[in-house]
Amino acid sequence: MVTSAQFGDGVAYVAGQYVPIAQASIPITDWGFLRSDATYDVVTVWDGAFFRIDAHLERFLKSCNRWRLNPGLSPAQITRVLSRCVRLSGLRSAYVEMICTRGQPPWGSRDPRQAVNRFYAFAVPYVWLANEQQRASGLHLMISDVQRIPARSVDPKAKNYHWNDLTMGLFGALDAGADTVVLVDGAGHVVEGPGFNVFCVKDGAVATPDAGMLEGITRRTVIEMARTLGIALQERPVTEQELRTADEVFLSTSGGGVLPVTRVDGQAIGNGTPGAVTGRLVDTYWAWHADPGYTLPVDYGP
Ligand code: PLP
Repeated sequence: MVTSAQFGDGVAYVAGQYVPIAQASIPITDWGFLRSDATYDVVTVWDGAFFRIDAHLERFLKSCNRWRLNPGLSPAQITRVLSRCVRLSGLRSAYVEMICTRGQPPWGSRDPRQAVNRFYAFAVPYVWLANEQQRASGLHLMISDVQRIPARSVDPKAKNYHWNDLTMGLFGALDAGADTVVLVDGAGHVVEGPGFNVFCVKDGAVATPDAGMLEGITRRTVIEMARTLGIALQERPVTEQELRTADEVFLSTSGGGVLPVTRVDGQAIGNGTPGAVTGRLVDTYWAWHADPGYTLPVDYGP
């Protein structure tokens, strides 16, 4: 029998059933596992409400389309599954992932068109890419010499699990004593890191890469916040040098919102503490979580 304590660690939706996260599994022959042939999206729940779920669903279905995957559920049906995962878990702040895998073609076939795609989902406690101390003092970011997989090979705008470059870059950064990593493209521009977009600030104006990376929903939120706050922001190529000599650097991610960076490759950024522009964006990001225009309350039932 499943106890509510087991559901409290997180809940997954697998093959039409809701199960405790520790019991969730996928068939070993699913190409999602064998070939990273899958797409996914992550939406958060904060204070009992989804944040920008419409944007995440729209991006998820676009990613499915790009990889010729069909989750077999409408946005309204996906929302019901995600809400049920959160409701069963009882979590008020959660990291909620929806996944569509290739599944498997009939045994012996290598034709992806014959595969029956599968939809999975899960809700677990909210995930922070930076811990409390890192959020207060800022992260130490390393610029990796690992090149992000080229956009012409794997389209970074469609979310995917082709993460070996990001993971190897992260190993390098952690081994060197940094907290996290940002990768570069073939031209030496910075693109993105494992689960986040990157921004730099110079003389009050913000810049963020415009190509070679996922168009993060938090990145979009930063762009909208900057417009609202009257902060200049450009989407354009960003060089390694610009990042190193910026007044401020920050990351954007569903895993914690706007996260300050105060060191790049061991060198202090600005005066070595989180900057004023970053601070305004952090405050606005959390303030927007109370805005009904961006939130959908989870139905926790009676
Ligand atoms: N870039 C990559 C490679 C990611 O995987 C993610 C999120 O998982 C992001 C950027 C940030 O996207 P979002 O703000 O939608 O979380």
